[in-house]
Amino acid sequence: MKVLITGGLGFIGSAFIRKLIDTTDFEILNIDNLTYAAMPEALEGKEEIERYSFKQIDIADYALVNDAIKDFQPNKIFHFAAESHVDRSIENPGAFMHTNIIGTFNILHAIQSSLNKLPDDFILIHVSTDEVFGSLEFHEAPFNESSRYEPNSPYSASKASSDLLVRAWNETYGIKTVITNCSNNYGPWQNPEKLIPKIIFNAIDNNPIPIYGKGENIRDWLHVDDHVKALIAAGNSIMSFDRFTIGANQEISNIELTEIICNHLDKKVPKETSYFDQVTFVTDRLGHDLRYAINSSYISETLGFNPMYDLEKGIEETVDWYLDNAAWVRNKIMS
Ligand code: NAD
Repeated sequence: MKVLITGGLGFIGSAFIRKLIDTTDFEILNIDNLTYAAMPEALEGKEEIERYSFKQIDIADYALVNDAIKDFQPNKIFHFAAESHVDRSIENPGAFMHTNIIGTFNILHAIQSSLNKLPDDFILIHVSTDEVFGSLEFHEAPFNESSRYEPNSPYSASKASSDLLVRAWNETYGIKTVITNCSNNYGPWQNPEKLIPKIIFNAIDNNPIPIYGKGENIRDWLHVDDHVKALIAAGNSIMSFDRFTIGANQEISNIELTEIICNHLDKKVPKETSYFDQVTFVTDRLGHDLRYAINSSYISETLGFNPMYDLEKGIEETVDWYLDNAAWVRNKIMS
């Protein structure tokens, strides 16, 4: 089994590769452009494993993507590579269109042009986000596979566009495809610009902990290892087109999440006052989605996926990981 992974040096892609290396004998090719978000440290030591290889490739460069797919002839492609930070998409949307839309088009075009040379069981797993569905009010039912696309940020609009391309290439050219729309992930090796590591490091550095609005925005946090498990299951779909919404069914507001982190820090690294006192509410993000929630019953019923992590325990373990790996995080923040 040959598996090509795009964006395998990122937060979720690297967790996925660690899992494949540890639990399978698959041959793995990782293509990643080593952007600011890449974390080669997350795969330290793996470069020596013979069945793992890495190529620095910008997925927006068609010729390189095409050569990689033609030469490697994968059974499966897991497409993670993306610009992924909503705040950056508001500041600099062009990079998101470049990678998330043009990059995905190139992957589809390259697959289509080599389709008759790829293995018969070839499948593309396009890793997307629940943010393509926009925002829910507090009373609304969670998103599911039939939810309407209503993206609100340049990031989610670029991911929604890529999903639509993937769907069209399945319909027009018969590329066997799964699209996954997952909720917010947390866990080790997440870029410190993202909410959870940011809270932890502002807290222990005695800085204000900035929270958008009043911290009422609700997210359904899924541990990255649970997401990886769901993606492996999704890659075994027997349908010619399938879509899975993936979540943990553990909705929590940003302020409640901050409280869990601060309470744990109060126990692990006690000081005179609680870390929670450092919370400062700041002007809300433009177009900030109020609530994301996911109905995962389809993937649970068809592929037997159920998340293993309890949110509070998972967050506490994650805080411990960042405390143990503070040197890496500080380097990443400085670079
Ligand atoms: P990340 O930002 O941590 O990593 C992205 C990786 O893609 C990096 O290694 C980067 O170098 C690489 N990359 C970026 N542009 C590239 C390009 N032009 N060519 C090749 N490689 C490029 O992202 P992540 O959090 O690991 O997310 C992975 C995927 O999962 C994304 O598609 C994202 O939309 C999706 N997703 C993320 C979350 C989440 O909470 N993090 C939730 C749902 C879905």
